[in-house]
Amino acid sequence: MLTFSKIKDTQSFLENERKHGRSIGFVPTMGALHDGHLELMRRAKNENDLLVVSVFVNPLQFNNAEDLKKYPRDLKKDEALLQAVGCDLLFAPQTQEMYPKEETKNYDFGELESVMEGAHRPGHFKGVAIVVNKLFDITGPQRAYFGEKDFQQLAIIKKLVGMESLPVEIVPCPIVRETDGLAMSSRNARLTPEERELAPFIFETLQWAKNNKGGMTTSLLKQKVNELFETRPHFQLEYFEIADDKNLQPVTSWENGRGILGFVAVHLGKVRLIDNIRFI
Ligand code: AMP
Repeated sequence: MLTFSKIKDTQSFLENERKHGRSIGFVPTMGALHDGHLELMRRAKNENDLLVVSVFVNPLQFNNAEDLKKYPRDLKKDEALLQAVGCDLLFAPQTQEMYPKEETKNYDFGELESVMEGAHRPGHFKGVAIVVNKLFDITGPQRAYFGEKDFQQLAIIKKLVGMESLPVEIVPCPIVRETDGLAMSSRNARLTPEERELAPFIFETLQWAKNNKGGMTTSLLKQKVNELFETRPHFQLEYFEIADDKNLQPVTSWENGRGILGFVAVHLGKVRLIDNIRFI
């Protein structure tokens, strides 16, 4: 596996690979890799000639300085995992390399960013779009792989690709969970052992909502989920939303023929976790 920290080295190596007709499958990450990331990579490796991964904790997408500071980082361990999964090229730049000057680019994702993560994390999706656009420009992938764990991010990326007419296929990948149901996340490493034991409650509640939605209006279901979290003192629910799978707008009825998901953001101790489940 090659490891590059410079944009130029990465660009010129991959340009040459493309010239020789090799397809590039790209998985952007913020490191602290887990099996959720590795699943994306296995798929990308399978479907392309080259697997390219980036590890970059992107300061622009953090709206909370403490979250950025405490974000888990372990490049040595990541490199070993990437070797094992057959990664061909790791791009791991420093912040200065990615952002030598202030970023002025702005994006308007309209209603997609007016709800849930967009509403609760101001500037987050702008930061995501800036870095993903840059990373696509540097790596020039045929296909890029994103997890449905960050469902709204996936919608934003698809929109970005359309808005900028980027020649890349976005491949959505299902959520990978621990055996007890907790969605894998780099932030799980920050949970205390006690919090980690409590954490499966998040997915249990989403499953409860899915199994009990029949006969309940969407607003009653939302109220019930709120009440369930209120009974658990370690959890602070930021939002539970029931939303359309295309435009991410809240739905007020279980309309037929429409894809609907439940989305949750919750604080467990000092760690903010998100998860989602498909209802319809
Ligand atoms: P991150 O390092 O958290 O920015 O994630 C990098 C990519 O991995 C994103 O496309 C995430 O959606 C995806 N990802 C993270 N956790 C999971 C998971 N548990 N299952 C599937 N994809 C995931």
